[in-house]
Amino acid sequence: MAAGGGEGNSRINNRVVVVGGGVAGALLAKNMQFHADVVLIDPKEYFEISWAQLRSMVQPSFAERSVINHTDYLTNGRIITSSAVNVTEAELKKPDNKEPRSDPHFSHLNDRHFGSSKDSQKIKSSRSVLIIGGGPTGVELAGEIAVDHPEKKVTLVHKGSRLLEFIGLKASKKAMDWLTSKNVEVLLGQSIDLDSVSEADGVYTTSAGEKITADCHFVCVAKPLGSSWLQKSVLEDSLDQKGRLLVDENLQVRGHKNIFAIGDITDVPEIKQGFLAQKHAMVVVKNLKQLIKGAGKNKLATYKPSSAIAIVSLGRKEAVAQLPFITVIGCLPGTVKSRDLFVSKTRKEMGLNHRKA
Ligand SMILES: Cc1cc2nc3c(=O)[nH]c(=O)nc-3n(C[C@H](O)[C@H](O)[C@H](O)COP(=O)(O)OP(=O)(O)OC[C@H]3O[C@@H](n4cnc5c(N)ncnc54)[C@H](O)[C@@H]3O)c2cc1C
Repeated sequence: MAAGGGEGNSRINNRVVVVGGGVAGALLAKNMQFHADVVLIDPKEYFEISWAQLRSMVQPSFAERSVINHTDYLTNGRIITSSAVNVTEAELKKPDNKEPRSDPHFSHLNDRHFGSSKDSQKIKSSRSVLIIGGGPTGVELAGEIAVDHPEKKVTLVHKGSRLLEFIGLKASKKAMDWLTSKNVEVLLGQSIDLDSVSEADGVYTTSAGEKITADCHFVCVAKPLGSSWLQKSVLEDSLDQKGRLLVDENLQVRGHKNIFAIGDITDVPEIKQGFLAQKHAMVVVKNLKQLIKGAGKNKLATYKPSSAIAIVSLGRKEAVAQLPFITVIGCLPGTVKSRDLFVSKTRKEMGLNHRKA
């Protein structure tokens, strides 16, 4: 989106370049497409609902509704299937440096990806599975396998002293008790050296010297933010030490009136979650519309960081939920999340058919 007019004039031309078509970027692009000239840059041709990926690993048909081509929701915008490699004051560059030319415009990125049908085959053909990492991804994957394949031996190794360290102690304990009740063996305070991990001989040694036998393994540890390319861009001074973009209450990148950041890449002090990334996107949609109209900073919507709310699914029917004053486990939170994993809701938000066939 190019800045227009002279100094002091906040009106901007209406090109919006969205870098990253993940949870936040896809929603933003979809909602801006009839208000601006939208260009979406993403290395993939599709957007995958990340919280449905683990179900797709045990039930590949689930991916049919949770993997969405960018062309399905972005009918009035341009899609560039590539990674952005630089942002300058005058343009946003992709590797061949051809298009798009414009002033930069916002975004977010965090490239985390799980396969599905290949992983599903791997799980099916294994008698024992090792899961490395006891955050939400590791716990949800262990739950999916334990419920769908109770005959398989599942071991989860986590280097922390408790599961789900991103939320409270009660949720950790409830998740631990549930997994143990499903015969998942959980080893806390131990890690597996990821540099030497291999499925070749089926034996894994933990940092405590314990040997685990497993036919396959899945690494479920958080990947670093994919923002290193911004270190050599005009945004280098707007990054914190963790590689996150510093934003103000309007989600504008500090020091840049025409660049917004949304989603996991921001330094907003809250748990990094998709439903919050979607809220960021909708705040920025409002702000972009205001800027296009020529409104000043005082007319922009603000974003207030959220308190620690999370629902971690445990198989098809159950979940553990941490809410502001209570932590609950079982079928009630399971009804909210685990049956459909918010796929219908997300598809509806993206303007797509959300009913199951
Ligand atoms: C397995 C799993 C389960 C999860 N479960 C939940 C859940 O139950 N509830 C919840 O709220 N959240 C959940 N999350 C977290 C949620 O997925 C993230 O918070 C959310 O995806 C963040 O959205 P985002 O748009 O910031 O990043 P992403 O959705 O990660 O999107 C980033 C996009 O940027 C693209 N990109 C990267 N580099 C570049 C580049 N240089 N140029 C162009 N594009 C680039 C990537 O390809 C990607 O499409 C889960 C995450 C995972 C991995």
